[in-house]
Amino acid sequence: MIIFTHHTGEPHSILGAQVAATFFRRKLSISSIVVGIEREFSKERLFRFIDEYYTGKWSPTGKPASSIQHSCGATSRPKNHDFLLPGEKVVAFSHLCGRIDIVGLARELKQEGFITILGGPQARKDYDGEPDTDSHPHRFGGLKSIVDIAFQGPVDRLRSEHLGMRGVFLEYPWTKNIFLEVDWSNIFTFSDTLKKLEVQRGQVVNAIGCPYASKLQTVTLPPPINLRERGIPELEVRSEGCIFCDVSRDKGYHGSVGRDRLIAQIAGLPEVDGRKIPFELIDEYPIRSLGKLLEDTERNDIKLSQINLVCRVDDINAHASDLVEILSLVRRQDMKIMFASIGFESFCDRLLQYFCKGITVADIVKCVETLRRLKDRFGSHFLYRREEGANHGFIRPTPWDDSETLQEIDRNIFLHRFFEDILPEHSIPLIIHHASYLGDWIRQIESMTEITFNRDGTWIEWWNPSHVL
Ligand code: SF4
Repeated sequence: MIIFTHHTGEPHSILGAQVAATFFRRKLSISSIVVGIEREFSKERLFRFIDEYYTGKWSPTGKPASSIQHSCGATSRPKNHDFLLPGEKVVAFSHLCGRIDIVGLARELKQEGFITILGGPQARKDYDGEPDTDSHPHRFGGLKSIVDIAFQGPVDRLRSEHLGMRGVFLEYPWTKNIFLEVDWSNIFTFSDTLKKLEVQRGQVVNAIGCPYASKLQTVTLPPPINLRERGIPELEVRSEGCIFCDVSRDKGYHGSVGRDRLIAQIAGLPEVDGRKIPFELIDEYPIRSLGKLLEDTERNDIKLSQINLVCRVDDINAHASDLVEILSLVRRQDMKIMFASIGFESFCDRLLQYFCKGITVADIVKCVETLRRLKDRFGSHFLYRREEGANHGFIRPTPWDDSETLQEIDRNIFLHRFFEDILPEHSIPLIIHHASYLGDWIRQIESMTEITFNRDGTWIEWWNPSHVL
């Protein structure tokens, strides 16, 4: 089976899809690989490769893809064939990142007779689409017509017999005991040809979902600035976690995987020159685990090179003094910690409040001062700056930008010298995924006015209202 995902082409893993392919291979005896499709790709050549793969002319081992090679050297037919009619082929999709071209690929493969599976983030919401599409036909109608089996939850709940089902949505709850084995050699990328990806930046799961997603808030949002003259009222919107985040709504928070399983994942990472490759620790509040993690890896004689953290501002502010101790350990182990992505998102208090971010500009200033102090003290063992590879969140434009918010942002960037180290080269426009809480806000506006907002696949273009009377 091929699992198709979005990929940038850089040497990073796609953990969820790689775990899924590993599970299919090791637990269901279904030979599987991950193919990450880059933004520019040759469709004609991709279809040629798909044909070679499914006719058994290509496989990573040189053995026909339709057979399994066992450690003793023998081969056998995959068990999933028991549940498929002769000639039926299964292809899976995950981590679509809103890419219409990958959805188009799924549609074409379905038309060619493939059984299509959709898994990964937002599988249920993308399968179902937006509500009330009968009365609002411009809304995203979901992927039911091109997906045979939609699967939400940990992949280890999938069974071979599920592959015999059609037109189903299967959902299983997240637990702490999810399958976390990874075959790091099972990923390839495709632009105009298939390339084996030597993963140089891995991922390791500590938290299942985001702890901040448990924070329920209600915020009052004014209409988009370009529609202020239309008499649209301010609307109350409910949010769990950050209001633009599709992950928080999709997955919630289900605790951490436990120390032993965390260390087992790290032990399984590839090595370069006797050290584990740099990896991202998946946990929005990682600092509480970090010191113990370093002690445990040292005790187990696992040599690390670099841990990348995707982290919230409040975690850094709450643990500023712990970081000194942690970084002393990092220096002793001759490795690096990088705050690779901190969700600053804005430098305007009003916008931070609209985002339900749970932080203020004063919190951001305190956090950046801590980072700068740590940099002075720990030098090359501590990375957080733009030119060191970090890429922190800065959302602009937003639907609420006016002269006041723009001036406040520019003033704070200048006053606190954010341009020196943390400001990314490019800001990212506010993305409204149809399944985020901001999607609810846009649909409320649509329901009470004649205004419709254009859809681009699974995204809602808040900057592109139409049918304005
Ligand atoms: S944006 Fe980050 S911190 Fe906010 S809810 Fe999503 S995952 Fe959590």
